Amino acid sequence: MILRAKYVLPDNDKLFENGAVLIAEDTIIDIDSYSSINHGRLEKVYDFGEAVIMPGFVNAHTHLELTNIHGQVKRTENLTDWLMQLMKRRNWNEQIVEQATSAGIAMSLASGVSTIADITNSGWSVGTLKRSSIRKLVFYEAIGFDQKRLPQAIANLSANLDAVKPDALLTFGISPHAPYSVSADLYRKCRDIALSRALLMCTHLAESQSEHEFLMLGTGVFCDLLEKLGIAVDDWHPPRQTPVEYMRSLGILDYSPLLAHCNYLKESDIQLLQASNANVVFCPRSHNYFYHRHHPYENLMKAGVNVALGTDSLASNDSLSLLDELKFLHKSQNSTPPETLLSMATLNGAKSLRLYGQIGELRREWQADIIAVQIPPIAESATHGSTLKRKVIEKVLGDESQNILTMVAGKMCFVKRET
Ligand SMILES: [Zn+2]
Repeated sequence: MILRAKYVLPDNDKLFENGAVLIAEDTIIDIDSYSSINHGRLEKVYDFGEAVIMPGFVNAHTHLELTNIHGQVKRTENLTDWLMQLMKRRNWNEQIVEQATSAGIAMSLASGVSTIADITNSGWSVGTLKRSSIRKLVFYEAIGFDQKRLPQAIANLSANLDAVKPDALLTFGISPHAPYSVSADLYRKCRDIALSRALLMCTHLAESQSEHEFLMLGTGVFCDLLEKLGIAVDDWHPPRQTPVEYMRSLGILDYSPLLAHCNYLKESDIQLLQASNANVVFCPRSHNYFYHRHHPYENLMKAGVNVALGTDSLASNDSLSLLDELKFLHKSQNSTPPETLLSMATLNGAKSLRLYGQIGELRREWQADIIAVQIPPIAESATHGSTLKRKVIEKVLGDESQNILTMVAGKMCFVKRET
């Protein structure tokens, strides 16, 4: 089949006007102008008109099983209050989680997200995710600050990893939740399992200043939270390290982990992250929701750290759309070039999930994970070449753009308007 549109933006360097993509089964065969690609072919042609055909978005951090909690948790800058509210609301069972996950997948696909990195705490979302046509890396979450919970947490993790087989669109990872909810021993065990099974690891890190206090001094709201949950903190000996230093000492940084948030970093932390090839996921609107200070993503990227984008869950955000994240960032952070923002939502995400080489850009012989974003017309006088490319990208990040096609591995999973 052939997809065509006014613009094809296979990556940040190229733009085809009146472009097209030729696809066979799940693979991109060619990308060119429509007149060159269509030469004598008898392919079915789908024309998306005034739109930009481009790589699908990669949402590198979300929790789809919380999709139905949207609007039920009160906004607060206190993360522990928020976590307590979440635990009270999360009155779930298998059916509720399956429904929430299905809804989250549909919302993601409709918004142009073709790949998700999803964290499952319940494990109940995995069947729904496996049956879905979105590309996904599913992290099984491990929680256990209490030493007594270590054997059970490890047993659950191993059982979950053995229960469902990965496939062409599904891979698995492990996510020890965060330094205040996972003991050092559980982190090390997760690391060993990830290493022996060659799985990616993800953890929430350096999310709040309270986390810093908890690790440096062993005091603060996270101690209160653990006590409220009946978890003994008397024998907690804080490592007196920053969250990033702590991860390094536990050996987590040795495996290029995916680190969600990293909102509060010292300059030396950034150097450690760079040296370890860690990946950071920045969740712009969720970040804003918690009233955090300015995120250091520009400094991270300047230092050479790969920074991807995520939505986090609907418990701290209003949509699962990376296009919405990009629009929000573009409006609030004018210092970042729009090309860089787009890369964060596509190829940086693919790199962070070890999928670059298959997805993240449109290239011959790569997977056909493709979206079409409808944009308002660009005036004829708006020149050519790199100026036009900049205009096109700015329209994608502008208020009026909307996703009209999401294709994953050559399959149209969402079409808004077929012509
Ligand atoms: Zn999260």
